This record gives sequence, C-alpha cells and structure tokens, in this order.
Amino acid sequence: MAKSTLHCSFCGRSRDEVKILIAGQEGHICENCVEHAREIIEQELNVKQDAQSNFKLTVKKPVEIKRFLDEYVIGQDDAKKVMAVAVYNHYKRLQQKQLEAEVEIEKSNIIMVGETGTGKTLLAKTIARLLNVPFAIVDATVFTEAGYVGEDVESILTRLLQICNYDVAAAEKGIVYIDEIDKIARKGDNPSITRDVSGEGVQQGLLKLLEGTEVLVPPQGGRKHPEQKLIKINTQNILFICGGAFDGIDKIIARRVNTNAIGFNVNKEEQDYMKKNLLQYVNAQDLKSFGLIPELLGRLPVVTYLNPLDAITLRAILTEPRNSLIRQYNRLFELEGIELVIDDNVLDFMVEKALEYKLGARGLRSICESILTDAMFELPSSSEKKFHLTLEYALHKFDKSKMNLLKVA
Ligand code: ADP
Repeated sequence: MAKSTLHCSFCGRSRDEVKILIAGQEGHICENCVEHAREIIEQELNVKQDAQSNFKLTVKKPVEIKRFLDEYVIGQDDAKKVMAVAVYNHYKRLQQKQLEAEVEIEKSNIIMVGETGTGKTLLAKTIARLLNVPFAIVDATVFTEAGYVGEDVESILTRLLQICNYDVAAAEKGIVYIDEIDKIARKGDNPSITRDVSGEGVQQGLLKLLEGTEVLVPPQGGRKHPEQKLIKINTQNILFICGGAFDGIDKIIARRVNTNAIGFNVNKEEQDYMKKNLLQYVNAQDLKSFGLIPELLGRLPVVTYLNPLDAITLRAILTEPRNSLIRQYNRLFELEGIELVIDDNVLDFMVEKALEYKLGARGLRSICESILTDAMFELPSSSEKKFHLTLEYALHKFDKSKMNLLKVA
C-alpha cells in the first residue's frame, strides 16, 4: 500500500495532513485524535468519580443555622431568620424527595436586597460553610457583556463544578450566589439603570437554571463546541441566592407603602420609622417595578433585606465576629511575638472614618491597613514585644495615608 493512502482511522485525515500517525493492528491514529481521546478519558474519569461521590449533606435546624450566622455576621436578624428557614426547608425538601412524598415542596430560592457591603455575600458564604456544600459566587453583570446569553448563564454551573472538583453529585446540591442581580433589571421602569445591554435576555436565560432542569455544561466553561464532551447537571436541587443593592428601590417602596397606609391611623412617629426603614417592606412587587421580570421573581419566592450599617454595627463588626478584623490583626502580631493593644477610641475613630467616607464595612479593612502598615513593616525587624496603638498614632498615620483621596463628596 502506498504511504500517502494511510489515514487516521478516527478522523480520516491522511498521512500528509498530520504530524504523527501511530499504527495499530487494524488501523491508525493521529496525534490530534490521541490528544482528543486523552481529554475524553480525563472527563470520563471525573464523571466516574462523581458516581462514587462521598458527598454528605449536613442539615441543621433553623435555630442552629441562625446561631452559626450570628458568629460571623453582625445584625441583619431578619435576613438571617428568613435565610435560615429557606435553607432548612430547601434541604428538607431534598430529603422528602427521596421518600416520594405527595406534596411537592417548591424550591426556596432567595433574593436579598441591601446596600453594597452590608453582608449579603457574607451571609450566603457563611451558610454554605455551615452546610458544607459547594458554593459559587457569580456576578450577574458579566452576563450582560457577552452576546451568548444562554451559554454564559450556564457558566455559573461550570464554576460550581470546578469548585467541587467535578463531583456532579455534590454540585447538584450546591449553593450559587448571584451578585448584582439588580444590574440585569430591564430598563424602562427604572430610569436609574443606565446599562441594559441585554438585561431582560439574561433574566430569561436564568429562568431555566433557577427552576430546575437538566443543563449541559461545558466542563471548562467558555463556548460549547460540537466535539466537546458536556457534563449534564440537574439544577433542581441547587439553591440560588441572588443579591443586589437595587439603588432607588426605597422610592418605589415608599410610593407603595404610602398608598397602602392611606386610611390607617399611622402617627407621625410611626411614619418616620417607616420612612427610615423602608427596605424592610420590600416585596416582589417592588422588585418588579424595579425591572425584574415576573417569571424570574416567581422563581425567587423568598425576598429579604439587609439594613444599612450604622456606627454601632460597624463597631461590632470590627471586634465581634469570630474572624473579625481586630482579631485577625491581633493574630498577625501574635505570630510575630508581639502583643497588640488598641485603645477603644481608635476603634471609634475607624468607624467614624468608615461612615464619613461612606466606605461601609469593606472600608474598615482599608482604614486598618492605612494605620497599621508601617507598624507591620517595621516591627518584625525590631525587638519590641508590645505595640500600643493610640488615637494619636492612628490619626497621624491615617492623615499621612492616601485614604483621604477616597472621600466621597
Ligand atoms: P455585600 O455582598 O452586601 O456587598 P459583603 O458581604 O461582601 O457585602 O461584605 C463585605 C465585607 O464587609 C465582608 O467580607 C465582611 O468583612 C464585612 N461585613 C459586611 N457586613 C457585615 C456584617 N453584617 N457583619 C460582619 N461583617 C460584615
């Protein structure tokens, strides 16, 4: 047989079209097909591992969930309670399914409304940690930027799969946190939304994921291509938690609450309280007015809110959570053999600056850094055994730092 007639028995390419052609007993294989086969084997093995997944769910009672959240998240009691119940019911529903129950309990996907930096992501993350399930955070804004909506939305699941090392069984019981869901609100109803590249399209794309369906997911993310082996994931038991700041929603709530309050005997004090804490009245109707489509809201039945952080909360965030900033700094110094002593008025100063600069809880970290960086730079090379952080020192370092450039007008 002439050499040029040899071809790969898998892709059909001739000897001239490939670099290497390996001969078998009754055929040949080219280097491209070897590489392709290797990929398939890798994916197959991963999926096989899923079948042997030793993933076990830890289900906790709502009170236990709330107690655990209290250790890490300050305040936000309403959100904690609502989340604890929703998560508990979700997992109860999973167990019930196995018993083939008559009453089908619907999925309790959650939507949280609250200013940025008030603890939405922290809440979702802490719950996932407690339940020991795979947890992925995705940003809804990335879906607006790409043209291929369906495909991009599926990449949420790719992220989840990657996090649990392609253990499909674990991923199918995971939690996904979709941040900035307000940024895919459709324009029109709300003039404050300036970019709406395909907001409504993305919302449509999310529907099928949220309600529970089988989705074919490209294991490495990106675009699907015909030769790729896709992994099938059922989203029925994946809990979706969405969060967003929904800037301007207070006006929408105010309009609705005021209309409803007409005819009731609401005194001035109560009115003031209502005005100040409008977010607590948020419901699906307000979210619809903001620009989320009713079908999407229908799949996010649990609506909750987070309060803005006031001085007392910020002060508590500095010291109280299990891994609070101050505890972290104490530990960092301790590892260096140095005792860190911080005066109370320094903590008050940090809170004051975080509020003044409108930086919220996230800002506390930058403020601490701006004050402590020099000390953390110098002390490891010194023989000091104690560092006393006074207000005078803090003021001096803070003024010298570039933090004041961050001030919001
Ligand atoms: P969001 O998702 O609402 O924008 P995050 O949950 O990412 O905000 O919060 C940012 C950071 O601020 C957190 O990592 C945490 O350190 C801190 N933080 C915010 N809110 C709280 C809170 N209620 N309790 C404790 N820490 C908080």
